[in-house]
Amino acid sequence: MPKTKESSKCERCGKPHYYFEPCDYCKKRVCRACQKSSKNASKTKRIAICKTCWTTSKKRKNFLAA
Ligand SMILES: [Zn+2]
Ligand SMILES: [Zn+2]
Repeated sequence: MPKTKESSKCERCGKPHYYFEPCDYCKKRVCRACQKSSKNASKTKRIAICKTCWTTSKKRKNFLAA
């Protein structure tokens, strides 16, 4: 079986998508639908959190405090 490019699939739901952003907590590249929230922590750093990590209160608090 030929190796398919994983670049166009979400690492959380496995669905093909056009837009991905890496979750800063599990490091998975997730699609818009799987991303819970994102924000600019500073002028240069942008952080995102996926829905899986959002359910973990420790990670959620970490994201909100960033
Ligand atoms: Zn997804
Ligand atoms: Zn995550």
